[in-house]
Amino acid sequence: ALSYDVYHSAQVAAAAPARTLRVAILSREGGAYSTRRIVAEGEARGHVVEVIDTTRCYMAINALAPEIHYDGARLPRFDAVIPRIGVSVTAYGAAVMRQFESIGTFCVNGAEGILASRDKLHAHQILARHRIGMPATAFASSPKDTDNLIALAGNAPLVVKLLESTQGKGVVLAETKKAAQSVISAFRGLRANFLVQHFVKEAAGEDIRCLVIGGRVVAAMRRRAAEGEFRSNLHQGGSAEPVRITRAERDTAIRAARAFRLNLAGVDLLRSSEGPKVLEVNSSPGFEGIETASGRNIAAALFDEIEKRVRPTPVRRKIP
Ligand code: ADP
Repeated sequence: ALSYDVYHSAQVAAAAPARTLRVAILSREGGAYSTRRIVAEGEARGHVVEVIDTTRCYMAINALAPEIHYDGARLPRFDAVIPRIGVSVTAYGAAVMRQFESIGTFCVNGAEGILASRDKLHAHQILARHRIGMPATAFASSPKDTDNLIALAGNAPLVVKLLESTQGKGVVLAETKKAAQSVISAFRGLRANFLVQHFVKEAAGEDIRCLVIGGRVVAAMRRRAAEGEFRSNLHQGGSAEPVRITRAERDTAIRAARAFRLNLAGVDLLRSSEGPKVLEVNSSPGFEGIETASGRNIAAALFDEIEKRVRPTPVRRKIP
């Protein structure tokens, strides 16, 4: 049922080295949909795909030979590593990826991009530095600055987000200034870190997820919030459907992924009256929702990119 750009696939396959690749997926969830799809697609192409539990990797760090061990043995050399690092193991997962990078393995996403995109403050700063549109965003550490913070974000209605929020769980809409002050003071009381953001009303409970692979948007879906809800996360009861994106949206998504040097990224954006505004860049985007909504084969697009990027090992010729 998946019909990823047959023409494109054929083109890439023609140019790709006809060589079996050894690919590792760094994941703690071998049974997850995305992991199973990557394994199935890689094996269908004749590659060897191994799922490696991130937290079971261990390393000897020394100047001579960076290497990675697993379950009592040194890991073989992989042609490519696909990180699928859960939020709870971000720091350790990034360290493992850094080790793969030192060895010279092709990493679909690097440690730096994973870390920066997971840190909401850092991520907004990177987007701003690359002049990528986003909702007016402000953050402060001291309670003395609450009113100034609210003013910087463009006054109520405002969205207050916990920095650790995922799946929309820590995202609150404050419709009035009073409500914003209360939410902010409650978060501060709990010593929670948060940011304050202009509420993009005209997005009307919808956002667009663009799946970017190797500088191309390979699929997009529109997520719509459930009745009476402004968060469109599927985990908050949102629904997904295919969508045609504009050129500006496509360019924004590609630039956002590039700003973090991610070869695989889920870029979430809002349709605002001033054009696309990026909410978040996800370095381990799920495949299930978007493959279902768009009918595209994301795993195939990922392997097209890996096969294109991984050069065949050069044959060493003896000097006569
Ligand atoms: P999380 O990382 O927890 O998913 P997001 O920043 O992606 O948090 O926000 C969750 C959802 O809330 C978004 O998908 C979007 O529908 C809605 N949302 C977030 N920020 C805004 C905003 N500034 N204006 C309008 N809607 C927003």
